[in-house]
Amino acid sequence: MRKIVGLFIMLVVSTTAANLSAQNEVDLNSLLTQINADSVLRTVNDLENFGSRFALRSGGNIEVAEYIVQRLENYGITACVDSFYYESNNWLVGDYAQWFYNVRGVLPSENPKDDSIVIVGAHLDAISYDSNYSLLEQAPGADDNASGVAVMLELARICHANRLHFKRDIHFMAYDGEELGLVGSYNDAWKRDTASDRVAVMLNNDMVSYQPDDDWKLTLHWYDNALDIVSRAAEICSQYTDITPVVPTEEENGTSRYSDSYAYYQFGFRAVFAIEYTFSTSYHTYHDVSDSNNYDFLAEVARYNMAMLVTYTELDNTVGVAEQTVAPMACLYPNPVTDKACLQYRLSDNSFVGITVTDLLGRVVLQQNLPAQTAGIHLVELDLSQLPSGVYLCRIRTDKGSETLKIARK
Ligand SMILES: [Zn+2]
Repeated sequence: MRKIVGLFIMLVVSTTAANLSAQNEVDLNSLLTQINADSVLRTVNDLENFGSRFALRSGGNIEVAEYIVQRLENYGITACVDSFYYESNNWLVGDYAQWFYNVRGVLPSENPKDDSIVIVGAHLDAISYDSNYSLLEQAPGADDNASGVAVMLELARICHANRLHFKRDIHFMAYDGEELGLVGSYNDAWKRDTASDRVAVMLNNDMVSYQPDDDWKLTLHWYDNALDIVSRAAEICSQYTDITPVVPTEEENGTSRYSDSYAYYQFGFRAVFAIEYTFSTSYHTYHDVSDSNNYDFLAEVARYNMAMLVTYTELDNTVGVAEQTVAPMACLYPNPVTDKACLQYRLSDNSFVGITVTDLLGRVVLQQNLPAQTAGIHLVELDLSQLPSGVYLCRIRTDKGSETLKIARK
């Protein structure tokens, strides 16, 4: 059983534009309870069913990447395949030249406390070979590393199911070509370095579902630029899960170089790398199938990650969980507008309404808070005549949800 202790987060949900506040309490433990062994198993099964996710097979991993994009988009996360062509060689496969397919899903913060990002990542590719290191056609990679991808997607599911908002952007990442030498993660870390991205922490999960006995342990590999992060990770793992965290000594920490977090470390980003303490007996073989793994353990690893995610992003208490999917079905006309625009929206129930117009830098240029309105269709005139020409975002918020429309001022 998980320990029921700890962090109780009070979310004050206020539709600021409408000058309305309601309170909602989100308890991290209740989020952790929603993490589900069947849900993570489903992802592992789906990925295993590709038969092989070896990055150099014909056509590469485009379909795997598209599957992960689809899953993220189902959870309301804007996602895309980030492909790149790469030529290199390694000891196992010799020279190669191939397209690789990373996945990047972004859950933006609406009120970021700073410009740093929290990354949850795992590699999507797999490899298998026989005792003579001859590559095999079947590479099911259930533990290595469908399990890590399953953690990433489970977090996305929990964020969506609870309409969570955070104070930092979250990037949900899946990397291709890890087994060939961290190819995908290196490419992503390089792009982030080039773009001067700031990363609060990169949470890497690689092989996190093998646990044959009741003595649940998780190794947390560390990097010397992020010792505070591994300490925090161990505390969080102890506090919120039934897993005993193991922080290796410097001599035992060599494995930290053999997974995607190391690529980030090479560019100076801070990371922590979780891996099963009892190493899988089916590593890099065609026996690495879903039946060999422990999905209650994998769900518990996902709980450790969810608690880390909440710790490093912080839940946002200004937009919060009360926001529903029922949008006010608004439209604006004329668009483009010269001076006054008409905003029309439909309320399914009586509701307060707040309207905020911002420029593309997020600066509020116009705000209207309306008293409680009855269900039905309403029209509000917005005077934009004082604004310079350009593109603006008009956000309408009601008790039931919000909608953002783009408007061009001529
Ligand atoms: Zn791996």
